Amino acid sequence: MEHVSRWEKDITDELLALENQSARRSLVLTENADQTWLTIEGQRMLNLASNNYLGLAGDERLKHAMIEAIQHYGVGSTSSRLIVGSHPLYDKAEKELIKWKHAEAGIIVNSGYVANVGVISALTGRDDVVFSDKLNHASIVDGIVLSRAKHRRYRHKNLNHLEALLQREPIEKRKLIVTDTVFSMDGDIADLKGLVELKERYNALLMVDEAHATGVYGENGTGYAEMEHLQSKVDIQMGTFSKALGSYGAYVVGEKWLIDYLINRMRSLIYTTALPPAVLGSIIKSIEIVQQAGKERQSLHDLTYYFRSELLRNGFNICSSETQIVPILVGENDRSIQFAKLLQQEGIAAIPVRPPTVPEKESRVRFTITSAQAREDINWALDRIIYVGKSLGVI
Ligand code: PMP
Repeated sequence: MEHVSRWEKDITDELLALENQSARRSLVLTENADQTWLTIEGQRMLNLASNNYLGLAGDERLKHAMIEAIQHYGVGSTSSRLIVGSHPLYDKAEKELIKWKHAEAGIIVNSGYVANVGVISALTGRDDVVFSDKLNHASIVDGIVLSRAKHRRYRHKNLNHLEALLQREPIEKRKLIVTDTVFSMDGDIADLKGLVELKERYNALLMVDEAHATGVYGENGTGYAEMEHLQSKVDIQMGTFSKALGSYGAYVVGEKWLIDYLINRMRSLIYTTALPPAVLGSIIKSIEIVQQAGKERQSLHDLTYYFRSELLRNGFNICSSETQIVPILVGENDRSIQFAKLLQQEGIAAIPVRPPTVPEKESRVRFTITSAQAREDINWALDRIIYVGKSLGVI
């Protein structure tokens, strides 16, 4: 018993310390998050917090695809993919994925987190080096830690720093460079051309995380690499179906040897139950829809450009955002919480983001825009953001 109470005391103290730093988190009951207006604890708010960039999470066509899949294939996948869980919808979805991404091979896995942790830890080990942008997503960091490879973090988007780190490693070492394309907390975009040049010069493998770019960039919505015509230069592309595509799960595409290897070595694919048929049904439909969503992509870009310009014009610091993810830099933790709370009272759902998700003293309130939002709603929100920003002295 004494042993248990020691654990309880330590953990309670740690939670208290988090509370004192305004860094303690809790779960909040949210209804209608798939819609442009949601309800948090009974209050209706404009949803500026979801990753539902093309408004597909509540789409009737996806709902029907899910229901149809359940009727044909049941609810559960019953086992991992390597046992008997690779139901026919996986095969169909992966064929569609490969066509859409113009890839040689591809695989669908349970989530973006699972993809990053699994791919990096399968490919690299103690003798390898992984070069990772300082602002890469936590799942990339966790993949590197799990791999036991040497972890070299380069300053955010700083290719001179990356090159200096690459030069320090022996030529014969296997090297992997990994980056988000759209960065999830700053809303800026990696210099993919520069990264391709470096990976070629130093004979490294390049992996990109297109979680926030899939569906949003490129003529067919396949991501930022497509938009830059660099798809064939990137060795490993991962992205998610859970954001712009409105569903759930993630993909990895690349050459056949890579995907064959992952099927043999990716522990987060091998040792977990396959996705339910319903999810695959909606993935197939969303791959079809997203390719025809040029109009929605354009409205999303127009709306986000307008939102960012208005914030800048009013004196907010939006970091270097150039996408649908728009942070307002606030600084201290309690100030970002206060900012978000006041916005919520005004009817706007936006989330405070604090360390360790972002660096110390760089707490922010993060807004995300979707194509489903109306210009009037954005104008209404801007008025309130400016009002709260002024009242807190943020501008
Ligand atoms: N990569 C990035 C850049 C992300 O932002 C996220 C999720 N927020 C993930 C990976 C993980 O994806 P998932 O939510 O599907 O696990």
